[in-house]
Amino acid sequence: MSTARTLWPCAALPNAPLAGLTNMKVGGAAEWLLEPATPEELRDAVGAARERGMVPRILGGGANLVVADGVLPGVVIGTSRMNMIMRPQAPDHGATEALDQGLDARVAPSPIAEDPRLACWAGVTMVGLVNRMRRLGLTGLEMLAGVPGHIGGGVAMNAGGRGWEVWSAVELVRLIDPDGTFRDLPREEASPSYRNGNLGEAVVAGVVLRFGTGSVKEVGERINEYMRAKNATQPVTAASAGCVFKNPDPDASGGLSAGQLVDACGLKGRRIGAAEVSERHANFIVNAGGATATEVLALMDLVRDEVASQRGVELEFEVKRWLPGAAG
Ligand SMILES: Cc1cc2nc3c(=O)[nH]c(=O)nc-3n(C[C@H](O)[C@H](O)[C@H](O)COP(=O)(O)OP(=O)(O)OC[C@H]3O[C@@H](n4cnc5c(N)ncnc54)[C@H](O)[C@@H]3O)c2cc1C
Repeated sequence: MSTARTLWPCAALPNAPLAGLTNMKVGGAAEWLLEPATPEELRDAVGAARERGMVPRILGGGANLVVADGVLPGVVIGTSRMNMIMRPQAPDHGATEALDQGLDARVAPSPIAEDPRLACWAGVTMVGLVNRMRRLGLTGLEMLAGVPGHIGGGVAMNAGGRGWEVWSAVELVRLIDPDGTFRDLPREEASPSYRNGNLGEAVVAGVVLRFGTGSVKEVGERINEYMRAKNATQPVTAASAGCVFKNPDPDASGGLSAGQLVDACGLKGRRIGAAEVSERHANFIVNAGGATATEVLALMDLVRDEVASQRGVELEFEVKRWLPGAAG
């Protein structure tokens, strides 16, 4: 495909570098990067890509993603301009209406204790969401403190940790199906699992989250506590793509997590070029400065092979890898 004359229904950039849009800071360019600013533009962008015979790849905050070097053919759609958080205007508004109200809702929302919900477009950052929770005294997803990425990516990946997951607060997700139409999926009809929203090829356009209410002070203290715990155990300031592997079935791994298995294989600090298995948390690979995607991807494969040969456990990737030719 592709000429610079191609018309798209939203902001569009040809040959767009992607490294700076990911946390790992590696990788090449997208043939096209589309940047919708609203759910409707996102829907139209998905439809336009599909009309041209392309399955678009969706880029949230790029926090669980490694983009290969070179040029990625086709279309990447980024959600970073879709960063609206809204309070529903009335408690008797259903979740669908809460997402429908859009930019120009003019009625003051109900007191937060009467309707502790937030309607978010897909590109709301989880950092921004946690800040809003802190300000409003909303409780339920304090553990998202320090988790980078967008809420759309968080819902698609079912971001979580020990004993919590994003979907526990979901009331409804607004999806865009491959045929370019909206579909509202209530929580009770969804089947998220460990690190997987199980949404198939649907794209998350928005989500309504339901919280509990608490004191602003206590919510803030819990957020700070989760932040401190994360800082103490993970390389949060380094360039990385989060946990590389899902935790395996404890029956197969003797109860060891993915990070513990990698550590037990003596792989902490192992490098290929400037890609390095984190000394702080063995399930993280960090870009120690100037790494290429090829180095990062090779180190991920090396770790997986070593764990298989030393411990007999086949680790499954949690990280998404965008390779030319493969699906996103
Ligand atoms: C320092 C650090 C700490 C982390 N801690 C945690 C943690 O505690 N728990 C945890 O679960 N994760 C953690 N992660 C990983 C990451 O933050 C989460 O997986 C997050 O949900 C990724 O969101 P994203 O928007 O960045 O998605 P991306 O990395 O952009 O994309 C990930 C996948 O989601 C898809 N996707 C993105 N947006 C959409 C959308 N709108 N609709 C459909 N599909 C979409 C992409 O196509 C891709 O397949 C951490 C990462 C880092 C770097």
